[in-house]
Amino acid sequence: MANNNKAAMEEMHFFADVCKNFDHAAKFTQHDAGLLDQIRSCNSVFRFRFPIRRGNGFEVIDAWRIEHSHHQSPTKGGIRYSEMVNEDEVMALAALMTYKCAIVNVPFGGAKGGIKINPKEYTVQELENITRRYTVELTKKNFIGPSIDVPAPDYGSGEREMSWIADTYATMNPGQLDAMGVVTGKPIALHGIAGRREATGRGVAIAARECVSFAEDMEKLGLTAGLEGKKVIVQGLGNVGYYSAKYLAEFGATIVGICEFEGAIYNADGLDYDAVFQHRKATGSLLNFPGATSFENSGEGLEQPCDILVPAALENQITIDNIRRIKAKIIVEGANGPTTPEAEAIFYEEMGGFIVPDMYANAGGVTVSYFEWLKNLSHVAFGRMNRRFEENSNKNIVNMVESITGVNLSDSQRATIVKGASELELVNSGLEDTMIRSYHEIRETFVSTEGIDTLRTAAFVGAINKIAVSYQNLGIWP
Ligand code: GLU
Repeated sequence: MANNNKAAMEEMHFFADVCKNFDHAAKFTQHDAGLLDQIRSCNSVFRFRFPIRRGNGFEVIDAWRIEHSHHQSPTKGGIRYSEMVNEDEVMALAALMTYKCAIVNVPFGGAKGGIKINPKEYTVQELENITRRYTVELTKKNFIGPSIDVPAPDYGSGEREMSWIADTYATMNPGQLDAMGVVTGKPIALHGIAGRREATGRGVAIAARECVSFAEDMEKLGLTAGLEGKKVIVQGLGNVGYYSAKYLAEFGATIVGICEFEGAIYNADGLDYDAVFQHRKATGSLLNFPGATSFENSGEGLEQPCDILVPAALENQITIDNIRRIKAKIIVEGANGPTTPEAEAIFYEEMGGFIVPDMYANAGGVTVSYFEWLKNLSHVAFGRMNRRFEENSNKNIVNMVESITGVNLSDSQRATIVKGASELELVNSGLEDTMIRSYHEIRETFVSTEGIDTLRTAAFVGAINKIAVSYQNLGIWP
């Protein structure tokens, strides 16, 4: 029993870790202790249980939805389907959503949901029953809605689950014009948006590219500027890890290692992330990928030589137990909470490392969720009104320049200049702009605040200041 308690206590530190980081950053702000307490606390915790029919009997499912902060409405955050889900984890993830949205100027409060199941052990029909019942429970309590709380995918859930949620909510709210804005990450054919699936990974890659673009910062780490030729290890080949690897490779980095729960592979000359993905799909495992060294202990994969490590799986992966064996100089956090505060302190102070924190690095997902929500509320796809108009204006300009100069463009040159922006291009442009601006903002706080220790602290300081202003604007605080 004592041991069980100890295990439970050890498990319950994720929210405390987030609060520890918050409290540390709060010292670099001037806010009233009460206001800081309001920002830090979880506002609403809804824990519920419901039965589903399974086999010849019933099973009771444990579930949560937690709204961390209402300084903006709606609240926003994914729903995790995992047998490891617990209240502490959902609270921590909800809090991270609040800070994440503030950092990238997405006007939402933070929330998160959890359903305690291993989705691999359930049939599609059972998963549908669970998801629809979860949505009904939230609807009954007014815990979901386009202007209340807007879920999205997270670990263990995806477009399919989001379409079940949208359909259930719409069914229970007949005639509600904005019903599709109740959830983001939907399939494109069901009111989703182009680019949402790739958004988190694309954002992670842009975050890494921005970080390494500052020559003076790289010099301190003993690295050169630019992604070209940088060796990267990615942990996780799910949605975030796969697209992080894809775009990092597209931006010029070399993916040298990939880790998953069954093990890890490494090849200093580079791995073709897509071939690895196909190999895993075909064999059920990363291991024995041709030309790569395989490690049955997945943790060993993180410790191989590289410049950048991208943990894109789950929280609590880089701890005091393994940090000193990490060879990377930069950690870009694709997952939420992969590095513990103790490990981060060692990485900066003893190992001269640098961490691009989760609440900024993986904010691409919620940024594009914001665009999807706007699309749902406006009932029109981005680019629909202006694409052809832009193309015609561009054609007129090109025709005029050609007639004045006598120079004729080739068909492909003409097509590149004339083309109006598609929804995907607009989404990607908004995402890139958001990621670049936010990095500059955080870095500016980092370099200009005396005594500040980490980029995470700088990100928290920015987030706390913005949330404080929202409370003041709401008139809740003087
Ligand atoms: N679950 C994702 C996250 O942790 C996405 C949240 C959203 O799009 O609302 O950021």
